[in-house]
Amino acid sequence: MSIQSKDLNGLSLIAAHSHISGLGLDENLKPKEAAEGMVGQIKARKAAGVILKMIQAGKIAGRAVLIAGPPSTGKTAIAMGLSQSLGSEVPFTAIAGSEVFSLELSKTESLIQAFRKSIGIRIKEETEIIEGEVVEIQIDRSITGGHKQGKLTIKTTDMETIYELGNKMIEGLTKEKVLAGDVISIDKASGKITKLGKSFTRARDYDAMGPETKFVQCPEGELQKRKEVVHTVSLHEIDVINSRQQGFLALFSGDTGEIRSEVRDQINTKVAEWKEEGKAEIVPGVLFIDEVHMLDIECFSFINRALEDDFAPIVIMATNRGISKTRGTNYKSPHGLPVDLLDRSIIIHTTGYNADEIRTILSTRANEEEVELTGDALALLTKIGQETSLRYASNLISVSQQIALKRRSNNVDLPDIKRGYMLFLDSDRSVQYLQENSDQFID
Ligand code: ATP
Repeated sequence: MSIQSKDLNGLSLIAAHSHISGLGLDENLKPKEAAEGMVGQIKARKAAGVILKMIQAGKIAGRAVLIAGPPSTGKTAIAMGLSQSLGSEVPFTAIAGSEVFSLELSKTESLIQAFRKSIGIRIKEETEIIEGEVVEIQIDRSITGGHKQGKLTIKTTDMETIYELGNKMIEGLTKEKVLAGDVISIDKASGKITKLGKSFTRARDYDAMGPETKFVQCPEGELQKRKEVVHTVSLHEIDVINSRQQGFLALFSGDTGEIRSEVRDQINTKVAEWKEEGKAEIVPGVLFIDEVHMLDIECFSFINRALEDDFAPIVIMATNRGISKTRGTNYKSPHGLPVDLLDRSIIIHTTGYNADEIRTILSTRANEEEVELTGDALALLTKIGQETSLRYASNLISVSQQIALKRRSNNVDLPDIKRGYMLFLDSDRSVQYLQENSDQFID
C-alpha cells in the first residue's frame, strides 16, 4: 500500500539524519566547523542561520527557501538542522516531490495535508487539575465481573477529593496503573491520569490487587490546582479528528483519505476564533519538499497561492537539478521551478565536500549508528565517499557492520568495507553492469 511506503519513506528521510541536532552555529550565527552533527558546508549553513533569524523575527511570510546543490551535499540535513534550531515544538514535515502523485489522494489534497501537518496549534485549555498522592484505591469488580472493568475510586491526600472513574477509564488505564502511594494528577475535564512519581505497574499487578480496598499511610500531602494546560497539535490532526468520514483512528493508520473542504473551512474559522480569544496560538512549522523538481506546474501554482495563506508554514524546497523543464510545461527554467515561484524563493547553494569533511561526516554517522570503525576502514570509506557519493558510503557503514558481525567481530575493519563494496553496487557500477548486460534486461 502506498501509504505505508510513504511512511517508510518519511522514516528513512529522517533516520539518515539522526546525527543532526541543529545548524551548529555559534551565538553570532557563525557556523562552527563541526557542531550539532553538522560538518563543513559553511556558506550554506551561514545562509540558513540568516533565514533562521528571519523566521524567528516573523519576517519570512509569503516566501520560500530553495536549497540547490548536487546530490548528497546535505540539503536535507540543513533543512532538518534549521527546523531543529526552531525548537522541539515546531512541527517538521518532510515529503519528496514524487509522493504527491498517488492513486489515493489528488495532488492538491496531498499538498494540503503536508501543509497542514506543518502548522502547529498551541492550545491553552482552562482545566482543573488535581494533583496529589493516592492514599486509597477501591476497586469494585462486582458491577461488571470483568477484572479490567469496574469502578475505581481514588482518594487523594486531600481526603475530600474522591475521584471516581467510570468503566471506560479503567479500560484505558491498563497501561497506566495507579496504585496507592503513587503521586498522580487527574485532569478533571477528561479524567486523564498522569503519574508524577514512582513507576507504572502493569495490568497484572493491578489485577493481583484483588477487589478489597487498600490503604497506604502517606506523609502530609498537598493538593495543587492548576488552571492551564497547553498542548500542541497540528492543523491536520484537528482536521482528521473532526472529519466524520475518517475519525481519529485514521491518525494512527495514516489512512486519512481526502478531507472535505467544508471541514477545513470550519476548522480554520474555529482556530481563528480561538486565536482571537487567546485560547490558541499558531506555530508555523517547516514543510520540507525534497526533489521539488518532481512537482508539476499545478503543484507549483498551489504552493504559490498557499504561501500567501494566513496559516502558511515555512516551505523549504530542495533540488539537485540545473536548468530543466518544469513538469507539465514545455519551458525550461532554473532548477525546473517556474519563475514566479523562483522569484519568491531565497536560494541557498550547497557544494561538494573535501576528503576531511567526508571523513568527519562518516565518522559522525558511524558513532550515531554505534559502529566501531578501524582507522583503515574509515580511510577506505572516505575514499569510496569521494569517488561515489556520501550517501552510498554512509549506507556501507551498516552493511559492513553486518559483515563484521558474521565473523563475530564488533569492529568494522578494511576487509568488511571491501566486501560491502563488492556486494552492493553504487549507481555508476550499476549503470556499467546494465550496459554490459543490456541484452538481459527489458528496454
Ligand atoms: P539529495 O539531493 O540526493 O536528496 P541531499 O543534498 O539532500 O541529497 P543529504 O541527504 O542531506 O543530501 O545528505 C546525505 C547524508 O549525509 C545524510 O545522512 C546527511 O545527514 C549527511 N550529511 C550531508 N551533509 C552533511 C553535513 N554538512 N554535516 C553532517 N552530515 C551531513
